[in-house]
Amino acid sequence: MDNIIIYCKSCVTPSSRPRIVFNKNGICNACLNSNQKDNINWEDRLHELNIILDEHRANNGSWDCIIPWSGGKDSSAIAYKMKYEHQMNPLLVTFSPMLPNKIGNENREALINAGFDHIYFRPNQKVHRILAKRFFIERGNPKVAWDAGINVIPVKIALKMNIKLLFYAEHGESEYGGKVLSEESMRSRDFTEVIEHQIGDDPRNWEADNVSLRDLNPYIYPNNKELNDAGIKAYYYSYFRKWSMFENFKYVKKKYNFNENPRGRTLGTFQGFDSLDDKFDDLYYYMQYIKFGFGRCIRDTSRFIQNNHMERKEALELCHKYDGEFPEYYFDEILKYLDLSKDDFYSIVDKHRNDEIWKKTNEEWELKYPLPKK
Ligand SMILES: [Zn+2]
Repeated sequence: MDNIIIYCKSCVTPSSRPRIVFNKNGICNACLNSNQKDNINWEDRLHELNIILDEHRANNGSWDCIIPWSGGKDSSAIAYKMKYEHQMNPLLVTFSPMLPNKIGNENREALINAGFDHIYFRPNQKVHRILAKRFFIERGNPKVAWDAGINVIPVKIALKMNIKLLFYAEHGESEYGGKVLSEESMRSRDFTEVIEHQIGDDPRNWEADNVSLRDLNPYIYPNNKELNDAGIKAYYYSYFRKWSMFENFKYVKKKYNFNENPRGRTLGTFQGFDSLDDKFDDLYYYMQYIKFGFGRCIRDTSRFIQNNHMERKEALELCHKYDGEFPEYYFDEILKYLDLSKDDFYSIVDKHRNDEIWKKTNEEWELKYPLPKK
């Protein structure tokens, strides 16, 4: 990271976002990539998608693809399109949120009622808590093991049930600013990239006195040879159809009874329709703010700007109002889950404050390079 943090001149993402790159005009690669979308021939991409689907569509009534599914607007939009627009027979697979909440459960139930088969996997909570606490302390991220689980379980089920096709939502690195390894990495999912960028290391390394190899089974990815031999392929839907989280929201809203955060907006941001099924999410995004100096409102408004749903001026106002809000709503439940006292919690948070980003003045933490007013 450079010593001075700059913010993209088109969206509001800072240069402290891991792996983001700015051009000489101060525009981030997520914005540049989103401009590229206008040059893509989406008819050709749809044709490409249809070829893949035709190859896999089952004629004998069995499931022909797996959608790793949270119940949120993006994976639900894909599931709905697969079934009702592409005439596939998808099986939805969910790795349970860490602390599921009511709205998430209701939204999952609503899509299942719209005509879907579903497998819900809930991992051993004794081990999941140990890992959540360990990674919150070590990496300031309680969701590392969860991230591994959501990647692993759908693929393990695909192997076991001999379903050769998986569809993921979007390629995060190209959509939101990051490192794009190749054109192919935006199309089909490369798990090495996921381990490196999302999880950080191989979960086989997580064995410890209180965690055995057997305990880690939900987090350990099948080996590549096994997947190749079985002919399993995983793709990103965002490569084939133009991606917008807001369009996905409008789509699910129209198709079935998908509901937003009953409190109107989610803590730390202006919107109430994205990433709303896990009580841990407020803490997760707060820790991004602590570690990288930007929270959920910067993330969300940047995506809105990139998809032409918001002006930068409005984004700046919203971010000054909401970015970095403390996760107070589920705070007590989170402390209980992590088995931490308030004092422990605050000292872990402060340990993850990067001193290139934060300074302490009058006993208050302040960003050294805050988002400009305009
Ligand atoms: Zn940008």
